[in-house]
Amino acid sequence: DVRVRFAPSPTGALHIGGLRTALYNYLFARKHGGAFILRVEDTDQKRYVPGAEEYIVNSLEWAGIRPDEGPGIGGDYGPYRQSERKAIYAKYTQHLLDSGQAYYAFDTEEELDQRRESEKAAGNHNFRYDAATRGGMRNSLSLGKEQTEALLAADTPYVVRLRVEPGQMVHISDTVRGDVAFQSEEVDDKVLMKADGLPTYHLANVVDDHLMKITHVIRGEEWLPSTALHVLLYRAFGWEKSMPAFAHLPLLLKPNGKGKLSKRDGQQLGFPVFPLDWGSGEEHLSGFRESGFLAPAVVNFLAFLGWNPGTEQEIFSLEALVEAFDLDRINKSGAQYDFEKARWYNQQYLIATPDEQLGPRVEAVFAAHGHPVSEELAITIAGLLKERVHTLEEFYEQGLYFVERVGITDEKTARKKWKPELRPRFEQLRAALGELDTWTALTIKDRTVAFMETNGLGFGQVLPVLRLAVSGSTSGPDAFAILEAVGQEETLARLGEGYN
Ligand code: GLU
Repeated sequence: DVRVRFAPSPTGALHIGGLRTALYNYLFARKHGGAFILRVEDTDQKRYVPGAEEYIVNSLEWAGIRPDEGPGIGGDYGPYRQSERKAIYAKYTQHLLDSGQAYYAFDTEEELDQRRESEKAAGNHNFRYDAATRGGMRNSLSLGKEQTEALLAADTPYVVRLRVEPGQMVHISDTVRGDVAFQSEEVDDKVLMKADGLPTYHLANVVDDHLMKITHVIRGEEWLPSTALHVLLYRAFGWEKSMPAFAHLPLLLKPNGKGKLSKRDGQQLGFPVFPLDWGSGEEHLSGFRESGFLAPAVVNFLAFLGWNPGTEQEIFSLEALVEAFDLDRINKSGAQYDFEKARWYNQQYLIATPDEQLGPRVEAVFAAHGHPVSEELAITIAGLLKERVHTLEEFYEQGLYFVERVGITDEKTARKKWKPELRPRFEQLRAALGELDTWTALTIKDRTVAFMETNGLGFGQVLPVLRLAVSGSTSGPDAFAILEAVGQEETLARLGEGYN
């Protein structure tokens, strides 16, 4: 049975790369009737950020990506938070120590720094702790049994390192990248257990993937080099035969395609790289949700960042993605992050959402800006503007005139369209509209057309002026519908003070 996991480290906001990884794992699990596991990799205390786990959980929930197992959910392979699995890692580390595949290293940070410095002075800038150098360091292999036991008995701080012997070939058959080969010489004697008694990412990740019976590891390309070490670890444990399959997802590239997408891209270009708002401390980053994106649109957009269905179809619900998705259509080359495409997707989803469903969202946006609107008006605004906006935020930005008098937003057009000598005529129109007993787009239109005919005026002379007076702009949705939504009393008031 397929079992996959999303294994974030709670070190800050979940960025879109992380959400994409979660999504692909989820889609793959659903597609194959398997299980999607959330595992929190929180063993690096220096990088731990309180609240980050909750944030990740909320982000996944927002996106509709529901784990089958995980912290707070349960499952047969828990606990799912690595900080709660210390005893397990200790046991497996001991196993490697006993079988001679790992060893104690007592070198202090200062000693390691000194060694690096002296190597540098000798012209070697890449000192590595490995088979070639470990003999000159303070570890159980170079010190021997007696000394090691004495140091341990004296509670000397130590780390445990993997004993990587040269001359081994490591083959990774990656579902996306094909066959990737490494020599074990390229891998150093990585620390598995730190001096604080916590495992490093590598050890915990491999032990957990094994114990949790993970069948496919789907993760970002930045983890590909670590995979060589992971294969050596599986080998050391004797688990190589049941090793999971690997699929490394393409990098996310800057909008211009040059280089990796970074947090700064989001800040500099003024668009959100992050899916949700991370409101803690200095890292105040606006995210997709806060900018008014609908979760299904973001999911659809992310699905296409590194995958394609092989057809022209672009709109996919989560369910449709489950149907269409598979690992063999993941692209090898980096995926360019195109924010305009995200906006396009969001617009498609706004248009497809019935006004009655969109209304409450629009209502919430206006309320958040301190301009409450009735649900009825919100539904009207939703219907009138949804083809013109790209985000929920923009309903407010473009639709403020529905609830408030706004100044003229395009002066230039206003000056062209408004002729002071028309004023008396517009006073007549205002009076005529004031007589209407029923105020609907249709009755307003009929009355306006009658006024135009009587005065020999065309639409081009009347409508822009009406629009300017009521909405501050000559463009927008149907003018009569705007007037209906604004209401009779308010329309008459605005016509009265409008064009001067
Ligand atoms: N904890 C790692 C991360 O934060 C997990 C990488 C993996 O999936 O193996 O990305």
